[in-house]
This record gives sequence, structure tokens and C-alpha cells, in this order.
Amino acid sequence: DDILISADRLTVGYPLGGSILRKSVLKAVNEVSVHIERGSFFGLVGESGSGKTTLGRALLKAAPITGGSATYRDDEVQYDLATLDGAALKDYRKRAQLIFQDPYAALSPRMTVRDIIAEPLEVMGLTASRQETDERVREIAARCRLNLEHLRRFPHAFSGGQRQRISIARALVSGPKFVVADESVAALDVSIQADVLNLLKELQSELGLTFMFISHDLSVVAHTCDHVAVMYLGRLVETAPTRKLFAMPRHPYTRALFSAIPSLDPDDRGTAQKLEGEIPSPLNQPPGCKFHTRCPNAIDRCKSEEPQLKDPGDGHEVACHRWRELLEAVPA
Ligand code: SF4
Repeated sequence: DDILISADRLTVGYPLGGSILRKSVLKAVNEVSVHIERGSFFGLVGESGSGKTTLGRALLKAAPITGGSATYRDDEVQYDLATLDGAALKDYRKRAQLIFQDPYAALSPRMTVRDIIAEPLEVMGLTASRQETDERVREIAARCRLNLEHLRRFPHAFSGGQRQRISIARALVSGPKFVVADESVAALDVSIQADVLNLLKELQSELGLTFMFISHDLSVVAHTCDHVAVMYLGRLVETAPTRKLFAMPRHPYTRALFSAIPSLDPDDRGTAQKLEGEIPSPLNQPPGCKFHTRCPNAIDRCKSEEPQLKDPGDGHEVACHRWRELLEAVPA
């Protein structure tokens, strides 16, 4: 099959101490199953605190996998991420990379652009000479549409969009196949966001990359991703091809996220409910459906019985007891 990364009931838990008899664990990611196809742009959406960043990091083997499994498979290797270590982990680091969230914080002001991009090659020992490193840096910089004259300068001289290109070049210089982009355009102006998203799309097809694109913003995901998963309090609550999800979101949480996007239609007064309250702390998760404390459609059953993520047969998965009846109630 054509799956690059798959997770099966993947859990990331952090021990919190407690008594000897009853240790408590913070589950930032709770039994999540996903399959990411090669060459796809997979969107992961949720509010901050949903666990989306932790899931991205677990798939990069940068957060501890404490339950379930995750597998990476390309044409050359197959790795079980939960047990990966030693030389295989080192090898995985060049195949799976993160584009940092905040290009300002990610770049050292004391390094030139050339050194920033070259650092992963040097740390991983991927090139045999300075000349080879320079060639790789120039090649990826050109692909990321950086001016090669700028390689000698320091990052503080550049705009947010250019700095983000530097971060992208640094993430791609080792030749990864899987790239996690975590809120990679959130800090940028809308017009620059579009440039960076277009660049990522081009790089994806030129270099055959598979992206996991993490964002709190559904409108950014709509234009970029083939497939979307929506996360809430460590669980996936809905996954679907982007077209299906946007045509008819099934989960009340997803619908609430949609209602937060300003509509361009003046007649559209919005039938979706606005999202109220805050996401509960992962330390203090509600029983039953994790969304019941904020869901306008919650009934008694939701408070005690947690709905499982299920595919009703059309590839559009949802975890809600009432999705079918709620959809029937939506005015056409
Ligand atoms: Fe709302 Fe109940 Fe569905 Fe949870 S299971 S999303 S509380 S209707």
C-alpha cells in the first residue's frame, strides 16, 4: 500500500507522580489512529491544548510513545517508531523533519543564513566536505527561492516570510521524506501566508514530500491539505478527505470551528453554534465524550459513554453519538 506513516492507538503519556498505588498519567495524545499516504498533505486541526503538536512530535520520535504503535515505511526502510533507537533513530532524523512554528525563535541571530541551513548536515554528518555542504545548501536555498547572495547575511535582516523560507530550507536540507509543519504560517501576514503555502505545495511535488500540516486555522488547511483530522483533548474526533469535511462537517466541534471562520456571504447569519468556553485541561478530562462540557447538542449518554471514531463506510470518520440525527436536523 501507499502509506508512509501509520499510527495505531498511539498514546503519548507523561507520568505525573501520585501515590504508589495510583500513579496518574497525563495523556496528551490518547489512542490516536491515523494513516498518512505518501505524497499527501495531511492537515491536523484543533485548538491549542488539543494535543496536535504532541502527535506531530511523536511521529517525529520527539515525544515519548507510551502506548500503541507507529510505523514509518518508505522504499528503503521500515521503522517501528516506539522502539526506534541507535543508528536507526539517527537515520530516521534525516528522513523526518520539523519546520519550526516560529521562525523568529527558531533562528540563531549569531549564525549566517548559510550556517543555519548547513547545521543539520553537519550535525548529522551527511556531507564529506565543506564544498559538498555548500552545494547542498545552495541547491535547497534556490528551491526555497532564497536569494543566494543572502546566504552570507544574518537572519535579523530579513522579513518574516524570508525567515520562514530559511526555516523551510533548513528542515529540507537533509532530504527528508516526511515533514511536519507546525503552525508554519501562523505568525505571518495573510498575503505572505499564501506565498509560503504555495512554496510548500511546490516543494511537495518537486521533492515527493509527505506533509503533516498542523494548524488551528481551518481556512489555511482548506487550501492546502488533501485530508484533514480534527483533534480535541488528545483524541481524533473527525477525519475525512478535505472536500468532504468542508462540504458537510459531522462533528459538533468541527462545526463550531467552522463557525469561527468569518463568512463572505452577507446573507449567511450562520446556523452553526459558536464555540463557547475553553478546552478543559488534559489533567482534568471530562468523562464520556470529551467535548460534552462545551457541546450544544450533549445529552445524558454523552456524559458517561465516550463515542469511538468510526467510519460509517464512506471514509468520513466521526466520533459522536448523535452525528447522524444532527445532520438530518441541519437546514438544507
Ligand atoms: Fe456532543 Fe454528545 Fe456528540 Fe459529544 S457525543 S459531540 S457531547 S452530541
